[in-house]
Amino acid sequence: MNGNTLQTPIVYLKGVGPHRAEILQSELGIQTFQDLLNLFPSRYIDKTHYYKISELQRSNADVQLIGKIVHLKTVAQKRGQRLVAKFIDDSGEMELVWFRGHKWIREHIKVNEPYVIFGRCNWFNGTFSMPHPEMELLKEHEKGLKISMQPVYPSTEKLNNKGITNRVINKWIQQLFLDTKGSFSETLSNDMIHKLKLVSKNEALFNIHFPKNQEALAKAQFRLKFEELFYVQLQLISKKISRRQKIKGHNFNHVGERFNNFYKNHLPFELTEAQKRVIKEIRWDLGSNAQMNRLLQGDVGSGKTIVAVMTMLLAIDNGYQACLMAPTEILANQHYQGISALLEHTGVTCSLLTGSIKKSARKPIHEQLENGELDILVGTHALLEDKVKYQNLGLAIIDEQHRFGVAQRAKLWHKNNIPPHILVMTATPIPRTLAMSLYGDLDISVIDELPPGRKRVRTVHRFDSNRLKVFRFLKEEIKKGRQVYIVYPLIQESEAMDYKDLMDGYESVVREFPMPDYQVSIVHGKMKPSDKDYEMERFVSGETQLMVATTVIEVGVNVPNASVMVIESAERFGLSQLHQLRGRVGRGADQSYCILMTGQKLSSDAKTRLETMVSTSDGFEIAEVDLKLRGPGDLMGTQQSGILNLRIADIVKDNDILKAARFHAMELLREDPNLESPENLVIRHTYTQLMKHKAQWNYIS
Ligand code: ADP
Ligand code: MG
Repeated sequence: MNGNTLQTPIVYLKGVGPHRAEILQSELGIQTFQDLLNLFPSRYIDKTHYYKISELQRSNADVQLIGKIVHLKTVAQKRGQRLVAKFIDDSGEMELVWFRGHKWIREHIKVNEPYVIFGRCNWFNGTFSMPHPEMELLKEHEKGLKISMQPVYPSTEKLNNKGITNRVINKWIQQLFLDTKGSFSETLSNDMIHKLKLVSKNEALFNIHFPKNQEALAKAQFRLKFEELFYVQLQLISKKISRRQKIKGHNFNHVGERFNNFYKNHLPFELTEAQKRVIKEIRWDLGSNAQMNRLLQGDVGSGKTIVAVMTMLLAIDNGYQACLMAPTEILANQHYQGISALLEHTGVTCSLLTGSIKKSARKPIHEQLENGELDILVGTHALLEDKVKYQNLGLAIIDEQHRFGVAQRAKLWHKNNIPPHILVMTATPIPRTLAMSLYGDLDISVIDELPPGRKRVRTVHRFDSNRLKVFRFLKEEIKKGRQVYIVYPLIQESEAMDYKDLMDGYESVVREFPMPDYQVSIVHGKMKPSDKDYEMERFVSGETQLMVATTVIEVGVNVPNASVMVIESAERFGLSQLHQLRGRVGRGADQSYCILMTGQKLSSDAKTRLETMVSTSDGFEIAEVDLKLRGPGDLMGTQQSGILNLRIADIVKDNDILKAARFHAMELLREDPNLESPENLVIRHTYTQLMKHKAQWNYIS
């Protein structure tokens, strides 16, 4: 079957017609034969296997069992009754449950006769139960034995209402295979198929739609997932390579006096191995003639700032300027102070530029920047303004990536003829392979080690009913001279309520911790920036012992003396947010604590999140759990990256396949950069075709 037939509009498939073609297009985006062929089932109903009750898993979806009902009873419940049957086989017992249609069931069910039942099991009160099972007497079932796995296609209400049921789609796909004789062009090279022991395209497509058994299905899925991820990676990697070739970068090959002087005389501590490694990676980039675009991932407190400073010194040693952009004024301020302190005796000049810096103070900054007197500029979005012109910007560092969009990154690029090297720093741990896919155009460095002597934050979960005890504990800590954060959730949808909770909470804290013995700060998003800064300052300087706040303090703020983090309604926070918040404490020498406060009632996901926080402090481990709980859809940055437009692969579950796909795509481009060898023509052809249909393939960040 050649590609042209597959481009036939779906309206021409037997049994479809113009009306249903329209619905297919609007509901599922199906326009051509090919689109229908690539509509992969979202799950399968496995009727090839009969489970024993003892084999049931808590995660089992739809299963089929053989056994008999030995007992039926009616159980009263809040509203109405339910009919419960005891169902047994030779391995155990379970329950079948009906909430409706009791009379019919009672009249038709035969007790003590073997049945085949089919449905989805729940785990309830220590036994499995299956609500409203499909049932068939075993002797009937054997007459019409079906042994295939049934595919279930993605559907919508509208499709169902218009009679385009799963069965109908199934039939159309069968028709498609008849029309095309099930013969399609291969889309991977023979070489790759052999190396990876993949099934052919034909076999894969057949078995994805009509699997004979689990094994055939698994092979088909592997092949199609690999192919999908392979072409995504091929695109990302070629894009990166071509950018490297096209876009020249400043060459910072000179390691000069300022860097060396700082390293020898002003480094306040020994660098960790991870910091050294990352600096090496960066130095390699900077000396490579290409523009650096690097993402630096490191857990909160892992010491990214010093890496930023040393990178800036490299720029300055080579005759360039550097800037560092932070998402908030507070953070920009802290960076400015931290960096100024580090560079105090080095002769390097550094200024701060934020929205609240007065016009009169800006002018000299603008001038010094243009005439080259100023080496480093630290600030907020204000750095992006057109008025801000550099004599020669060689390096731009962005702290906390997700707050800035791609567009803003691009703006920095244009602050110089040759774009500056870019280093993006983030404390949001993203599993590495996922990061590679999300930020395909960035190289990645990871600081995976905390500075020595850091004590682990002791994390506990406490119920609201224990609040008095928690307050007593806070008082003890404050008596030792420590400071405390109390953080409230603030979620857009429930903003008004959340502010009320925050203010109520603040009042009760003030009542419990009265003046003059205690001073309480409050910071939230509705305050004026200047008031926020003032309150923040009071806390930073130690004037106040407690800081009641919303998540505005989540990112980057550094108060080493604050050693207790209380998180209210912790069940409402996502894992990565909880982890970020916890990172605000444990920065000093004292033992620090994170107390997760919740009500009694918790969803199972919430329990998992709390348990994870209590049991580990490893940001990457937490990120993995988070990803499993939420899927990548909620992960910052994924929406815009388009990586979710995958048809069959799952970026989280198929991580291994992703790694393999990436490896083979790199290998291929290394051996045959233009895909010219006869062996690889099929890949080039497929790739070109895919690029043509790029609307669906907008993986580029
Ligand atoms: P983050 O990665 O969260 O931005 P910072 O750069 O703010 O972390 O560093 C956190 C704290 O750890 C700072 O007080 C910093 O001075 C300290 N620090 C960083 N690197 C080291 C190191 N190698 N040894 C000891 N302390 C370090
Ligand atoms: Mg930081």
